Amino acid sequence: MVLGLADGFSMLGDSVPQYINSKVKELEALGQKVYNFSVGEPDFSLFPEVRDAGILALRENFAKYTPAAGIEELRVKIAEKLTKENGILCSAADVIVTSGAKQAIYNALYAVVNSGEEVLIPSPYWTSYAAQVHLCRAQPVFAKTDDFVIKADLLELSITPKTKILILNSPNNPTGTVISKSELKRIADLVLSHDIYVMADEIYERFVYEDEHYSLASLNDEIRDRTITINGFSKTYAMTGLRLGYATAPKEIIKMMNRIQSQTTLHPSSISQKMGVAALSVPLRNILPFVQEYKKRRDFVVRRLNEMNLDCCKPQGAFFVFPSIESLGISSQSCSTTLLEHGIATAPGIAFGSDHHIRLSYATSMAQIEEGLENMEKVL
Ligand code: PLP
Repeated sequence: MVLGLADGFSMLGDSVPQYINSKVKELEALGQKVYNFSVGEPDFSLFPEVRDAGILALRENFAKYTPAAGIEELRVKIAEKLTKENGILCSAADVIVTSGAKQAIYNALYAVVNSGEEVLIPSPYWTSYAAQVHLCRAQPVFAKTDDFVIKADLLELSITPKTKILILNSPNNPTGTVISKSELKRIADLVLSHDIYVMADEIYERFVYEDEHYSLASLNDEIRDRTITINGFSKTYAMTGLRLGYATAPKEIIKMMNRIQSQTTLHPSSISQKMGVAALSVPLRNILPFVQEYKKRRDFVVRRLNEMNLDCCKPQGAFFVFPSIESLGISSQSCSTTLLEHGIATAPGIAFGSDHHIRLSYATSMAQIEEGLENMEKVL
């Protein structure tokens, strides 16, 4: 019997960083020491007030179905945050809460894209975008970037009459680049002139070390009416396992996303939603020490990789580096495989659209980074 996704399945695959992370767990279970640079997961703990909100929700038996879009209390908080901190004017009715940003992205793509249409993705890109586009039976089209910098004129070269939506990710996974405000304006003009939609995935918004993060949808009303803004709690609040994300979008798209969600997962865990309410009350000054710490790690990792002759530019944001392995003359898959055999887990760049790079996450302790990179230098 031929399964529904048989034709597109080879394109789909497993999430590569998640697959490598599961390999790491297997090796660790066998007692092997592994330096894990493979997964984009903050290494700090839950904020105490967030943890306590979860415990309280359990004690109060907050364990029943919630509205499909998420509890009102959380959507009000998210709308306030988006309006005040991001300059995206919206109300609770314009917000959907999802099981991680990943599901927000999928709901949005499923709502907007028809079979056979094209989704424009600047490359390198986060691996799940392309897989989710395939799940929607649409076509990912990868646009060139200029030394990882996303530019409107390069995007325009790949726009066709079939292009339905552009996916922007800033700060970017895997490259760490941040789109400047002036470039965002050029991209907004491009989107409006070609009458397409845009998805702005802002999940790394707090991890910015050099420039500043701007939300595309804050630029003007016209672009806000074309933009789906994606965000979540995984990275800023170290809540990856709690699966909580959200989106705001034009009313007709939010309505479709709500319908899709109500017929599939219904809503994220009620407990996680209560924890999300508490997370949005954590003052930004409590998050800054982590950002400072990540900046220190970034500087160290970039310096060490360059000392190994792996050309690595300094990312302005997120918590990844994407060094070139061209000097080694091997594929990214064999580079990552060899490193893993020596107890160093990285993600091959091919999963992100470049076989000349590997991705390392520095969301792991400085001691692990120092030792891991020392070993990596020896292996190389
Ligand atoms: N967007 C980007 C660019 C990511 O890197 C990730 C996770 O790694 C996500 C979205 C999804 O995050 P989550 O589903 O944990 O909220």
